[in-house]
Amino acid sequence: MRIDEILKNKRTLSFEVFPPKKAQTETEKLYETIRELKKLSPDFISVTYGASGSNARNSAEIAGFIKSEGIEPLAHITGGPSTPSDIDKTTEKLKSLGVENVLALRGDRPVDSDIEYCKHFAHATDLLTYLNGRGFSMGAACYPEGHSECVSLYADLENLKKKQDCGAKFFITQIFYDNSYYYRLVFEARKLGITCPIIPGIMPLTNPKNISRIKSMCGSTIPIELRNMLEIYSDNPVVMREMGLNYAAYQITDLIAKGAPGVHLYIMNRADTASEIYLRLKNTFDELFRR
Ligand code: FAD
Repeated sequence: MRIDEILKNKRTLSFEVFPPKKAQTETEKLYETIRELKKLSPDFISVTYGASGSNARNSAEIAGFIKSEGIEPLAHITGGPSTPSDIDKTTEKLKSLGVENVLALRGDRPVDSDIEYCKHFAHATDLLTYLNGRGFSMGAACYPEGHSECVSLYADLENLKKKQDCGAKFFITQIFYDNSYYYRLVFEARKLGITCPIIPGIMPLTNPKNISRIKSMCGSTIPIELRNMLEIYSDNPVVMREMGLNYAAYQITDLIAKGAPGVHLYIMNRADTASEIYLRLKNTFDELFRR
């Protein structure tokens, strides 16, 4: 089923997984994770796509596996490293597997690669334009704190409007830990005529070692209270994990109370993270996500 159609009727609960590096040995483990995630009745599961385009086949196969489990897959596609022929092959494969939803992205040039980047698809908008009319329900990325390359949040929002004009029907946000950035994004986006649902992306922060990585990779601000909680208990991984999960549950509760159209959990291929969040919010999910 198309995700834009699902979003017309209910809030969505979704997860992101990524293809394992050691495709042969670890893919079966990922399939086990997907079977565990199925028990939480997600509306869809998204599968990332390597920035170099190298794992395209594996990514499509994982999306096909998700579909075969009776869950809606959302296949990410990065235009940056791709030629039109690469995109044609990927989309034909996705179609043959019954995948109806794609997240159109530019991707970031991998540091250790000399591939020509953004030659054919300079931006997600170019990929959306290329894919438009092929029958996919298309989503795209957005950035509550602005994208790192953008001169201003306003310029970034104008580009977000272009994504909608090029056919995106829903957006999923970059990770954020301060919900006020999400509310600002939605408020400003609506003023510019962006009407698509904007699904907040949440990643429980359970390890202080990830604080600087998240800041540098995603540009997400870590509120001082979360940073303090994690650092004070940095010698106790069990307590730290619990705090990170509780904080994520708090973020989700606040987002749902204020009308977010769903929640997308970045779970780093860990079904236990999804289950622990679900258990903390079972009644909220049962009451508000099943309608
Ligand atoms: P774009 O939309 O092209 O935006 C990049 C910059 O260009 C922004 O500053 C934007 O304001 C500007 N811009 C956008 N459109 C135009 C235009 N038409 N003209 C001029 N400027 C423009 N990366 C992966 O490699 N694989 C993944 O699977 C993946 N999944 C992701 C999922 C989500 C939900 C998110 C938020 C990010 C994901 N990323 C993934 C990371 C993403 O590829 C990077 O953030 C990348 O730097 C930007 O991708 P984009 O699609 O937003 O690019």
